[in-house]
Amino acid sequence: MKRRSLVGAAAGAGLLLSGCDFSLRDGVLNACLPDLPADLREHPLVQAAWRGVDAGKVWDSHCHAFGDGASGSGLWFNPRLDNIWKPVGYAQKAMYVNASCVDESAGRADTSFVERLLTQCRAMAPGFKVMLFGFDWARDATGTAMPERSTFHVPDNYAAGLASSHPAYIEWVASIHPYDPAALDRLDAAAARGARAIKWLPSAQNIDPGDARCDAYYAKLAALKIPLITHAGDERAVHGFGEHLGNPLRLRRPLDAGVRVVIAHCASLGDGEDIDRKGGALLPNFDLFARLMDEPKYRGLLAGDIAAVTQGNRMNVLGRLLARPDWHDRLVNGSDYPLPGIVPLIYLKAVVEQKMLDPAALEPLRRLRETNVLLFDFVLKRSLKLNGQGFAAATFETASFFRGPAA
Ligand SMILES: [Zn+2]
Repeated sequence: MKRRSLVGAAAGAGLLLSGCDFSLRDGVLNACLPDLPADLREHPLVQAAWRGVDAGKVWDSHCHAFGDGASGSGLWFNPRLDNIWKPVGYAQKAMYVNASCVDESAGRADTSFVERLLTQCRAMAPGFKVMLFGFDWARDATGTAMPERSTFHVPDNYAAGLASSHPAYIEWVASIHPYDPAALDRLDAAAARGARAIKWLPSAQNIDPGDARCDAYYAKLAALKIPLITHAGDERAVHGFGEHLGNPLRLRRPLDAGVRVVIAHCASLGDGEDIDRKGGALLPNFDLFARLMDEPKYRGLLAGDIAAVTQGNRMNVLGRLLARPDWHDRLVNGSDYPLPGIVPLIYLKAVVEQKMLDPAALEPLRRLRETNVLLFDFVLKRSLKLNGQGFAAATFETASFFRGPAA
């Protein structure tokens, strides 16, 4: 099988993945088993995860699309990721292919990605949806697209099309670079097509959220009442334009303009300069995120997503998030799909060792990861507890945040 051999060849190279704290103790490859077995669907852990949440409000707010574009989708990834002699990029792509259980045989990647995603959505409680992200090009200061410096590209049109073909399961999120001369028109068009948010990854797309040139864009977002989901904290997986662009304090600018902002991953990696003060120290980005969260003026504007916070290299913030129930209605759950399907990224035993997960949950969670990554991520996060304190139901009932205040 081609997929097996590609992934197998890359598994060794996977060890070289830079910036990721990989654990191989749970194995390397996802077995990609087809359907959710009945015993897992009815497992007490899974049942307990759905209890107390309104599934019709559970939107997984952070999902990536993936494919090779052979279906005419416009999906694209940088060809350098196909170069086996550049093992970091090659292994990253192979891991994504495996995590999303994509069939790499000719012309099947795009469609098999969607089929697998929909199969997983159908096995969730009725009403559950994913928010699928577009992903704009990296752009230079004039707004010209720079494919050679982009890692991947997901056209808004593709994400919007999937949402309109599968409205029971998919909502969509546009990705519009603020330096694109057409940005404001694109925002209007995205709003008209029902985009639930806008996604940025500043360090990979070359966006400075603190730059005055974004002000007209922010005014438009505030007027349209569309939230901005933007990555903060170190990115690492994508080598881009500088981690300083991910400094959470740069997001004061959209917040002060009245934009609702979701800081992806709660800025859980790396250090940032305390630019609130002259000559400010380097502080953990998470502390800078916490400072913003604790400012009363941002209460109705700022949220954080908990995508990927169970990953080995982000886990140090997990206890701090659980210990802040006063934040929980401002945290929004997202899986970062397909990433939780990458077996070595989340080392479950470490979560148990930190006393945030019952050891009895290990076996069903490991099995869930191999059949349904969305359910795995949901059940894992619903099962976390620190001193008896888990995330509130509100953290998972994200639809009200993204539907807007009227709904
Ligand atoms: Zn992501």
